[in-house]
Parts: sequence; C-alpha cells; structure tokens
Amino acid sequence: MAEKDVIKEYRKKRDFNLSSEPFGGSKHKKDKDKQIFVIQKHDASNLHYDFRLLIDGVLKSWAVPKGPSTDPQKKRLAVRTEDHPMEYADFEGTIPKDQYGGGIVMVWDSGTYATDKKDKEGNQVSMLQQLKNGHCTFSLKGHKLNGGFVLLRMKKKNEKNENWLLKKVDDDEADARRKPTKTENKSVLTGRTLKQIEKEED
Ligand code: MN
Repeated sequence: MAEKDVIKEYRKKRDFNLSSEPFGGSKHKKDKDKQIFVIQKHDASNLHYDFRLLIDGVLKSWAVPKGPSTDPQKKRLAVRTEDHPMEYADFEGTIPKDQYGGGIVMVWDSGTYATDKKDKEGNQVSMLQQLKNGHCTFSLKGHKLNGGFVLLRMKKKNEKNENWLLKKVDDDEADARRKPTKTENKSVLTGRTLKQIEKEED
C-alpha cells in the first residue's frame, strides 16, 4: 500500500492550517527501510506516551498511558492508534487545544530497533508479519531505553480499540528500580521539559 493511503486516517483527523504537525510524504523512499523508533511524551487531555516503530515506511503507533517500563514484571497497556508519517518521528512542539491530539509533544526517546525473530523453519519473520501476527519482538537502541521488548495483541475482540501489551524482556538492560518515566523527563532531541516546550512554542 502506498504511504499516502496508509496515512489517510492521520491526515483526515488534522487541519494542517492550524496544526504544525507534519503532513507527511516528503521523505525519500530510501528511508522507508530504516528501523527507527520514537517515543513521544504527549500531554493531551490525558498524559500518555506514543510508542512508534517505523515499519515499511510508516510509523506504526500505540498510545501507552503509563509509558514504558524497564521492569520485565510490568505489562503496560498499549492502545493501537493510527499510522503516522515518517516525518512525525522528529516532531516536538505544541498542537492547538481544539485540534485532534491537541497538547504538548516531546521526543522522550528515539533510536533504532532490530529484530531477529525466526519461524519454526528458521526463516526471519519481518516486522510487518509480526505485526499481523499480533506478537512483535524487537530490541531497542535508544537514549533511555535499550534491549528487548515485546508487543503482544490481546485476544479480546469487538472493541473499538485494538489493545496490546508492551513488556520489557528480562535481559541485561532490564531494571526494576529505574523507572525512567519518573526520573528522565527531558527531550532527547532538545533537552527541554514539557513546560519549556510549551513556553517556547506558544
Ligand atoms: Mn498522543
């Protein structure tokens, strides 16, 4: 599917005369195979963290109300949201309150991811296929988050939203005491807090 079709829902929800969010479609096709991730702290009507993985040229997205944990015992609800264009990975700023997703957006963490998931025959399973299967296993290389994570789609059907769980894999980067969403509150892009972003962008 072409990128413009995939992000139709994203564009439909926004008025780009009022919001400074990216329209999408400007990045070169060669960027489409990059394996990047971004986590945007979003102070909207409810504070949440938008977890996004670039898969096949679009940012597949989940809203994580409590944010990611480095404790492998903690499962975090991750509600699937509409695909965002690649350009959104660098977006930080304010969105007018009356616009969809209005509020303040911070690039809380970003970096690259890798996956080496294999099927029973030993063949590599692509992230797109993992997404369809409802079970994604990947390793992050970010500023705040590193190591293995799992996204698992919950079975319950007939709901408006697709609910997933985000969980840290119990590896060398797991740390139950760290609580990065509490102690690491600055943008990895600009070093700003949410308050500073609000003040400077208004
Ligand atoms: Mn959001």
